[in-house]
Amino acid sequence: MASIETPVSRRLATVKNIIIVISGKGGVGKSSSTVQLALSLLNTSPTARVGLLDLDLTGPSLPRMLGLDGQSVHQSSNGWVPVYADRERRLGCMSIGFLLKDRGDSVVWRGPKKDGMIRQFLAEVRWGDLDYLVIDTPPGTSDEHISLLTHLHPLFLPNPNRPPPTFCPTPTCVLITTPQTTALNDTLKSLSFTRKLALPVLGLVENMAGYVCPCCGEISDIFSKGGGEEMARKENIGWLGRVPIDTKLVKLLDDVVKGAVENVTPAQAGDAVFVPTKLEET
Ligand code: ADP
Repeated sequence: MASIETPVSRRLATVKNIIIVISGKGGVGKSSSTVQLALSLLNTSPTARVGLLDLDLTGPSLPRMLGLDGQSVHQSSNGWVPVYADRERRLGCMSIGFLLKDRGDSVVWRGPKKDGMIRQFLAEVRWGDLDYLVIDTPPGTSDEHISLLTHLHPLFLPNPNRPPPTFCPTPTCVLITTPQTTALNDTLKSLSFTRKLALPVLGLVENMAGYVCPCCGEISDIFSKGGGEEMARKENIGWLGRVPIDTKLVKLLDDVVKGAVENVTPAQAGDAVFVPTKLEET
């Protein structure tokens, strides 16, 4: 089938890898994991460039987690300029949080308006050359996910009249869960969603797996243990690792000061770090 060029494929032609972060439930640490993943990917090489796109339109948290609250994006003749977290412009972020007048403003939009915003984010942000574009999504599998995948790659929603776009890299996804049965059950639903749309899964991360004692550093399992790894094995998807509850991470993500990204590397965030080695193979 012939391929077509779309505004999205044209814009993302300079992006090597697209990774979508998905979780079945809210509050499992999806946005925190997205930020850690981006920081880990930055560390893969001294010249790596990473973009972070926040598609959690009703609950954007990436600006706060990156210490970029209150910043705004600039419109250039060639599209929106992302907000950069570092002087070298290796980590850029785009979020609806940068477009709201007030941090407390709520976004109450129906599907078509959300779809328009997502299309604009994909087609109009001037990322430049990126090694990775990491996309944070709302919990569950909602309108935002379908919009994202349809714009990225129309083949995800089969339509014989719509040929695939040129250039756009095929996205992959990472699933985030916690060890509790309810979260694992919801993760299975997310997994089923990815299978229905033939979205490749890089692997599963079990967040909040055990608690790191701030005094002695010992990890105790306060919830169940091993459910994520077992699910990954049973479902034949990659196992990316376990991240314990770490108060140092909460502090880093919740109280992060402006510009902290320049000084904080994932290694400094204690044990609560996963290094997704498999991502390098994509
Ligand atoms: P989600 O995006 O899934 O709604 P967040 O990433 O916003 O979840 O995380 C919810 C809260 O849990 C945040 O306050 C975050 O700092 C905290 N958190 C996430 N992961 C961890 C962890 N491994 N250790 C400690 N706190 C965590």
